[in-house]
Amino acid sequence: MGMGLAKFPFVRTLDGFEFDAQPSLDPRQIRDLAACRWVANGDTLLLLGPPGVGKTHLAVALGREAVRLGHSVLFVPATGLLTTLARAHSEARLEDRLVFYGKPRLLIVDELGYLPFEPDAAHLFFQLVSRRYERGSLLITSNRSVGDWGTVFGDPVVATAILDRLLHHSHVVTIRGDSYRLREKRRSGLIKPTSHEPDPAKQV
Ligand code: ADP
Ligand code: MG
Repeated sequence: MGMGLAKFPFVRTLDGFEFDAQPSLDPRQIRDLAACRWVANGDTLLLLGPPGVGKTHLAVALGREAVRLGHSVLFVPATGLLTTLARAHSEARLEDRLVFYGKPRLLIVDELGYLPFEPDAAHLFFQLVSRRYERGSLLITSNRSVGDWGTVFGDPVVATAILDRLLHHSHVVTIRGDSYRLREKRRSGLIKPTSHEPDPAKQV
């Protein structure tokens, strides 16, 4: 299989990430993660935070570093992954798909929890996580805190089993703050600043 092809949705680099715009992140921690020791160790990395704060940007940038260091990487949007697993399951091909998603050294699952899970999805995702557990790394981005995952997955028991595996050897990076896109728009005066954030233009 074409493991060189990571299927990143866009080109993003760590150099292109403005750390000044994201004070909740420690640049040293991200640069340390870019060395990809966690990938070599088969650890999990969770990138959590609200929409627009740079989770996918960082996931792509770290994925590129992993490729550069010789690791096989596959990037999949969470919805696509779950649809594919559900279809494979209904066509009695689930094992093939689990083998496929089990192969890359690093599997990046982007935007878990944006859409609520279909009834079977939590169990299918559990099988994927179990398959990769202590064999390869997972990088998961999500706009939901892990405390919400029971609700997202629609099954607290399966969610707990998934988290138990994911958090065993894990790094959790939580990004806070406002959407970078909206911030750019606010700066250019296209939209009004949010009430909790002082308008830099109005500060004297
Ligand atoms: P999320 O996945 O958290 O919703 P994205 O990673 O898609 O957010 O970021 C939204 C857009 O803003 C992308 O084009 C991304 O490259 C850009 N972006 C976000 N944060 C930063 C940042 N700190 N520096 C540079 N670009 C950023
Ligand atoms: Mg994203």
